Amino acid sequence: MINGTVTVSEVLLVRLGEITLKGLNRGKFIARLIVNMKRRIKDLGEFSVEQSQSRIWIRALSGNPPMDEAARRLSFVFGVVSISRALEFEPEWACLTSVVKDYASAVLRGKGEKTFKFETKRVNKLFPLSSYEVSCELGALLLDLFPDRLAVKMENPDIVFNVEIREKIYLYHDRIPGRAGLPVGMSGRGMLLLSGGIDSPVAGYMMASRGMMLETVYFHTFPYTSQQALDKVRGLALLLAQYAGRLAFHVVDFTEAQLELNEKVPEDMLTVVMRRVMMRVAESLARRRNAKALITGESLGQVASQTMEALMATDSVAELPVFRPLIGLDKNDTISIARSIGTFETSILPYDDCCTVFVSKHPKTHPSLEDAERAEARLDIPSIVERVLGRISTAIIDPVFDESDLS
Ligand code: ATP
Ligand code: MG
Repeated sequence: MINGTVTVSEVLLVRLGEITLKGLNRGKFIARLIVNMKRRIKDLGEFSVEQSQSRIWIRALSGNPPMDEAARRLSFVFGVVSISRALEFEPEWACLTSVVKDYASAVLRGKGEKTFKFETKRVNKLFPLSSYEVSCELGALLLDLFPDRLAVKMENPDIVFNVEIREKIYLYHDRIPGRAGLPVGMSGRGMLLLSGGIDSPVAGYMMASRGMMLETVYFHTFPYTSQQALDKVRGLALLLAQYAGRLAFHVVDFTEAQLELNEKVPEDMLTVVMRRVMMRVAESLARRRNAKALITGESLGQVASQTMEALMATDSVAELPVFRPLIGLDKNDTISIARSIGTFETSILPYDDCCTVFVSKHPKTHPSLEDAERAEARLDIPSIVERVLGRISTAIIDPVFDESDLS
């Protein structure tokens, strides 16, 4: 972009958090973050992505890619703390005043902001004015430009114009919050048991935010659970992929196994046995897919199958660690996270899942391990697990190419 005689280009300035605290491994974390960021915007155009001074700088290499959309997508990538869309130009006073005039006019057009301030950071000590002088001069310039409209305010102004004087000058005013956390891929791979409820998408989000790559598995009991229920879970997986990146979405045809359980398991133990079978299947699938942990949305005491004893009965069939990031969360806190990550509206669509269709009416709330084993006495568990494993279909969900489905 040419502004008068000044060449101005747009950059995204990405701030990093916890990653910068990593010692010797810092380079690996940043390299992974850059890969994840590039993947998220690759369809928007050609970009250069560079790291320096504990930030990542993104520039369009050619054409005119939509930087606002790039910033929006990158704000979902774990490891990013915040993003600003900045203008970049030569470190000369004449350039700065000319760009500030145009920029402020464009930013303020049609808006009601009345108070502002400039915040200047001068890293390039060759620049003739101090940070304070730059802020004062530019403030005076804007007051001249909008004499009846604007006032300077130091505490909580409506708008803060940031000027950073480095090798080049950077001018920006917005700051899009990111999701912080660690880059996905740095903490191995986990298999998320994803149902259509509120909890499991939040559990997946939380583990992905600690750098875990996700795969998801959904146990479908068609026709007892409907096609809409499956579409809903797929929708949730796609929303999760906005944060966790490309993921494998496994759908298990669980109907035959479920009907056998209904027939052979005492009613008060049905939910616990169903969960133990799901865990065994999920664990075998996880091993095939090189996932090193199982993840569920369980929270202590939420329902009968989530008491300590019931959780122990489910855990005892799995050797892999079972991560339950919601274990100590209040339901309201889980709902707040679900709202903030955009899964809540999909989760509350009214389609039944198998745990509501095949639910024990009077479940045993404190089943011992012996209770669970006794309840499975009439089942040939290895054969059930083997058959269920043969009925899994897998789709790859890509946040970039499937995003149009998110309407
Ligand atoms: P959610 O809101 O995540 O559905 P919930 O509070 O309804 O959880 P349960 O139905 O007891 O609780 O399920 C507990 C956990 O078991 C879920 O969070 C999920 O991880 C897993 N789960 C339950 N049903 C299924 C299913 N049909 N397919 C895959 N995982 C499931
Ligand atoms: Mg559920």
